[in-house]
Amino acid sequence: MARNAGLFVATLAFVYAFALSWQPAGVATLPGFPPGLLDRFRLPLVVLLAVGFIVADLAEYLYHRLCHRWRWLWLIHAVHHSDPDLDVTTSLRFHPFETALETLLRMAVFLLLGIPLWIEVVRAVILNPVNLMQHANVAYPRWVERRLQWLVVTPALHRLHHSPVEAETNSNFGPGLSVWDRVFGTFRRPDQDRPQRYGLLRLDDDSWQTVRGMLQTPFKARHIRTL
Ligand SMILES: [Zn+2]
Repeated sequence: MARNAGLFVATLAFVYAFALSWQPAGVATLPGFPPGLLDRFRLPLVVLLAVGFIVADLAEYLYHRLCHRWRWLWLIHAVHHSDPDLDVTTSLRFHPFETALETLLRMAVFLLLGIPLWIEVVRAVILNPVNLMQHANVAYPRWVERRLQWLVVTPALHRLHHSPVEAETNSNFGPGLSVWDRVFGTFRRPDQDRPQRYGLLRLDDDSWQTVRGMLQTPFKARHIRTL
């Protein structure tokens, strides 16, 4: 949807302006910046890569759950959920505040652990196609879905997360790995390939779907008691 692409451009501009004004990556190189938790162990690169992938995935899972629990985070995250037509462009549909907060979270995790920030770039190169695939309006054979679900959040699992039914929205939070949903009890296997409908019923009106409407959602939707 062109509007989702429009929001993406606005988000990109906001996050670039935010990053340029702060340059958080440079903070790690300032003298006196405390070493990360793993710095003292001098771990091989392959271990740092694995730890970076797993810990960042867990951090994003937990953050995603908070987005559904804390009202002000939910108002921001609702922009991603209010898309009534789930397709590949939904993976671009995030409010600028959400992208900025998530970028800060990732950097904090990597800096705290002492994992080089470029590993996050590698992670993004791998995870971005997965994210596009999760939202794409394509059906994979059931056996492919079943085989992959033990390891990753497949399109059918993630589609259920975009259902307006509350119990289904509050399931399958994992960004990449499906293990966190199993461990924390939020894993839900869909009965059918895709839910009856997508989006948030109270944000279905076209006024919420324009770029302006999406940017204003966290402020305007705060008057709606239950989204
Ligand atoms: Zn969500």
